[in-house]
Amino acid sequence: MGYNFFKITELKESFRRKLNTFVYTLGNAITHGEKISFADNDISYFLQLQNERLKNKQLTMEYELYDRDDSRNPTVGSEWRDAHYESFVCSEQIGVKRKILKGGSKIYSDNKKNILYTTITDVTTGIHPDNESVCCPNCGNVTTIAGLQGGCEYCGTMYKMDDLFPKVSGYYFLNDVALAGKEGIQGVIPFMAAAFIINAFIAVIAMIVRGEFKITSLFLLIPVIPLSMFLGYVLFSIYMMIRLIAIGSSQSAGKYGTIGSRKKFEQRMRMITPEFSFEYFTSKVISLIKTVVYSENPQDLLFYKGGATSPEFKDIIDLNYGGALGLAGFQEERGIVTVFTDAFFDVLYAKDSKIIFKRETLRAVFQRRTDIPINLQFSMTKIQCPTCTGSFNAIRNKKCPYCGNVYDIISDDWVLVDLKYE
Ligand SMILES: [Zn+2]
Ligand SMILES: [Zn+2]
Repeated sequence: MGYNFFKITELKESFRRKLNTFVYTLGNAITHGEKISFADNDISYFLQLQNERLKNKQLTMEYELYDRDDSRNPTVGSEWRDAHYESFVCSEQIGVKRKILKGGSKIYSDNKKNILYTTITDVTTGIHPDNESVCCPNCGNVTTIAGLQGGCEYCGTMYKMDDLFPKVSGYYFLNDVALAGKEGIQGVIPFMAAAFIINAFIAVIAMIVRGEFKITSLFLLIPVIPLSMFLGYVLFSIYMMIRLIAIGSSQSAGKYGTIGSRKKFEQRMRMITPEFSFEYFTSKVISLIKTVVYSENPQDLLFYKGGATSPEFKDIIDLNYGGALGLAGFQEERGIVTVFTDAFFDVLYAKDSKIIFKRETLRAVFQRRTDIPINLQFSMTKIQCPTCTGSFNAIRNKKCPYCGNVYDIISDDWVLVDLKYE
């Protein structure tokens, strides 16, 4: 996924510091509902919804991200750009420890060796997008980039360009098949130790049975050490192979057979907007699905035009993209393209104080117009009213606060028309 084995570019130092802050504040945003740094408003919004879901269930989810290999820096994969912004996908070996508490006692915990994929968006060098609308990271009101630099007209907070860009505009975790840093050594030691204990136990029993056991016979166990190390190594390799096959098959499930339609879809969308990429579309899809799943009233959401969602969604407390967005097909009719996607997720459910882990496939159907270019920076938190051109945050107002017209999001962006279990 966007990973180039031949050309590895490390993320710039200045970006790295911001990405670290994002990683550091992500856990607190989920656990305590605190503000996340350097994330765009769509991410902040679904994290807030996730935190509210946990609160409603009277659960606390401790969510800790840790660097699996301090000696390696995040690397940059595929990139795309439009008139004012450039975006690229960045990857880093980050593990996630989750611990779920109810009334102070632990009811679930896990520790996943993941790769964190982030989409980082920056302003294109040399261009000053002063009049671009942007959300105030403090109060969420819509103003312009220039406006924020002079002090937000709603809350007065002043920003430097450096506070606003670059920012994280998408993220997901994938289970890593490889080992990072000291994980190889740490992983093989228990196998070697177990092999030694079993071998030594058998040898001692054999000596006792034959009546030859003396305390000095323990020295005879010394040659068992190299044998056990070898055996432990072999067993560890077999374990890693099984793990590779298991993770690989779960992450590529449904991926095959859809590559062709994915290419066709990309080509079709590039006729509307040459910068369109499937990676951009994937991060959009994940954000919209998370927002619907964590929302208590999805039908109030501007971009959701489907029916009532499955009641099971209300029990979802964490949702991790499983690494494959399958494209079941797309069709075009009267200037509207409809695209059928299958997204794979690792899901945590909280049902009657029980935590259940499940792998699920969600079928999400999206629509958009084919007569207007795709705005790669589009966000429902900074809408431009087509009637009066006023800018507002559609999460707070369904109608334009300036002219009162009801805003229809399909005039600007993707609309989710159906979301259900596959
Ligand atoms: Zn503000
Ligand atoms: Zn208006």
